[in-house]
Amino acid sequence: MSRYTTILLDADMTLFDFHRSEREALKRVLARYGLAQDEQVIRNYSKINAALWDAFARGEIDQDFLVVERFAALMRAHGGTADPKEVNRSYELALGEEAWLLPGAEDFCKALSKTGLTLAIATNGLPAAQRGRYTRTGLDRYIPHLFISMELGAQKPLPAFFDRICETLHLSDRTQAVMVGDGLGTDILGGNRAGIDTIWYNPDHLPLTGPAVPTYTAASYDEILRLLA
Ligand SMILES: [Mg+2]
Repeated sequence: MSRYTTILLDADMTLFDFHRSEREALKRVLARYGLAQDEQVIRNYSKINAALWDAFARGEIDQDFLVVERFAALMRAHGGTADPKEVNRSYELALGEEAWLLPGAEDFCKALSKTGLTLAIATNGLPAAQRGRYTRTGLDRYIPHLFISMELGAQKPLPAFFDRICETLHLSDRTQAVMVGDGLGTDILGGNRAGIDTIWYNPDHLPLTGPAVPTYTAASYDEILRLLA
């Protein structure tokens, strides 16, 4: 019997293959707005976007600025005259349509759904993109709750993000919940701040850096399932 009743799961790079979705969506949008679809542009976009999300997680910028600035910055670097707001809208829709799971993620969610524990996805990100992939990948069959930072009005690692989830799930004893995710600065630090145990999903065996302290670390879905058993 698991010591937890509630499992909060990160989405991107914990369940969803975000890199693949991002790449495919970006290629569609670059073509649509007449920008070069070459590797350098794609790599540069990833870099710009990741840096902006980091700044967002540190509370330095808000999400409205982030989503427009990533395309404004890309076009400053590589040319392009489209309205970055429109490019972003089109990208978010494309991202919701590019639904790719990481290998083994579906079986993992299926196995979790058989445990009888309360399951929720707890993700930073944009509603159109996250909700689209949640239903298209079929994860909504296994995981009944989806919490998205933009809809909650707070993002990981802010305690308010977890407060709102616990309220909605009527979870008064936080020691019964565990946050599972690949992001040290978001999932793990957020769990630490909110008083919720964490499992750091670290399939690439990255070194532990920064202030976040995972309760457990797991390199595979099987390992996570063993920790939750
Ligand atoms: Mg993640």
